[in-house]
Amino acid sequence: MYDVAIIGAGVIGGMTARALARFALKVCLLEKENDVATGATKANSAIVHAGFDAKEGSLKAVLNVKGSQMMPQVCRELGVKYQNNGSLVLGFDEDDRHTLNDLLARGRANGVAGLRLLEADELRQKEPLVSERAICALYAPTGAIVCPYELTVAAIGNAMDNGVTLKRNFAVCDIRETADGYRIASETDVVEARFVVNCAGVHADRVAAVIGDSSFAIHPRRGEYLLLDKACGKMATHTIFQTPSAMGKGVLVSPTVDGNLLLGPTSVDAADKTDRTTTPDGLADVLNTARKSVPTLPADQTITSFCGLRAVGSTGDFILTTPKKGFVNAAGIESPGLSASPAIAEYVVALLQEQGLATPENPDFHPIRPSMHAFREATIEEKNEWIRRDPAYGRIVCRCEGVTEGEIREAIRRHPRAADLDGVKRRTRAQMGRCQGGFCSPTVIELLAEEWNIPYEQVTKCGGSSVLVVGETKKG
Ligand SMILES: Cc1cc2nc3c(=O)[nH]c(=O)nc-3n(C[C@H](O)[C@H](O)[C@H](O)COP(=O)(O)OP(=O)(O)OC[C@H]3O[C@@H](n4cnc5c(N)ncnc54)[C@H](O)[C@@H]3O)c2cc1C
Repeated sequence: MYDVAIIGAGVIGGMTARALARFALKVCLLEKENDVATGATKANSAIVHAGFDAKEGSLKAVLNVKGSQMMPQVCRELGVKYQNNGSLVLGFDEDDRHTLNDLLARGRANGVAGLRLLEADELRQKEPLVSERAICALYAPTGAIVCPYELTVAAIGNAMDNGVTLKRNFAVCDIRETADGYRIASETDVVEARFVVNCAGVHADRVAAVIGDSSFAIHPRRGEYLLLDKACGKMATHTIFQTPSAMGKGVLVSPTVDGNLLLGPTSVDAADKTDRTTTPDGLADVLNTARKSVPTLPADQTITSFCGLRAVGSTGDFILTTPKKGFVNAAGIESPGLSASPAIAEYVVALLQEQGLATPENPDFHPIRPSMHAFREATIEEKNEWIRRDPAYGRIVCRCEGVTEGEIREAIRRHPRAADLDGVKRRTRAQMGRCQGGFCSPTVIELLAEEWNIPYEQVTKCGGSSVLVVGETKKG
């Protein structure tokens, strides 16, 4: 019997698991996929929004501002990169200026520090490559960037180091009330818990419906992106938005914490909660719209494209509710959910406490998770020291990103253990460079097979039936 079962190991489930690990509780995190951070958390803009966008007084506004204030310390404790690069929202005409002034007023009312409107000269001093058509911009110095899956892997790793159990490939399909709480079942496994938190992202309405809660619906909204090579990483130093519309914050141009340049997303309502394919039209739209902000963006520097699904809730705000005793929904967590995630986790803990969860301190809780070794970022002295201790840190596997065998083994051994090729990619960046795994995938497969002690043919790209190798063509 667990005290709390959390359904969904995205950034919201992960941050909630870590927040609960501070208490002497038995907590499990149930994830339908073979790894953590595979939903909206792996495919988004990676921005820690300052908090001027959401309507004053909404949960989105309050938790965005609080979460973005918490984020630097959370990232320090979890040993993940946080870059306070600031953001700019461009205005191209007087209508845009009017909207930016409204956003400025809203941001100030939301408690966002340092917001101000820049005129064209100052804008161009900050971002020399920005379009000459931009006449002004809203500047938010507290805007920042993180790597959303690095953050989530680290939060869940820290929760597990502090006693939380992760169950992968556990697709919750049935939840029954019992005398003491809930019995939660997948096709092949069952857990019992006194309290349940529903963090199932785009599927959260289906999970809620299982216990008879039909108070909200979630629909997917597609967002396609282009990722440009590190050669373009310095074409923008701030996150550059365009004036927002009813469909969202529009297409941005932003550096990533790993030095690439990100363009996107589109914003297209959809019906299929699983379709994350990219489309030629969507990607062309991303490039054309991004060039309105930075006209010289080169299409031939694209190294990959991807699509994320926003979990758009029917209420217009984050859905943080308790439809039944001991059951909490953390649903409709669309943008700024990543930014708000540490604050959402605290809010969920408070709802659980209101529901009767006793929360004695965990005297052994340790908030620190040392960073993964990153060979490409180490000094020559650090590299020598790592190699002296373990020669595997001297063998480069991914040439594009400079990732060593030592780092890949570390990612497979550490909580939450990388179990497939994509899991190694998200933790180490091996396969994320120009060649997108063309050279290093065979070695990564070998290392996964060795560390998990499974045959080479059983290693998958992302769990399930996504095997890469079906057998040998010749023996010996
Ligand atoms: C295109 C796009 C751009 C965005 N940009 C930003 C941004 O720049 N800044 C920002 O703050 N926010 C942004 N967001 C929002 C942010 O990504 C989300 O708010 C956040 O990732 C939501 O996390 P989550 O844990 O709720 O959902 P998810 O990451 O989707 O996690 C839900 C998890 O639940 C699992 N699950 C589902 N059903 C079940 C089941 N039955 N049993 C077990 N497990 C289940 C899924 O597999 C998944 O792992 C963006 C989102 C998108 C899509």
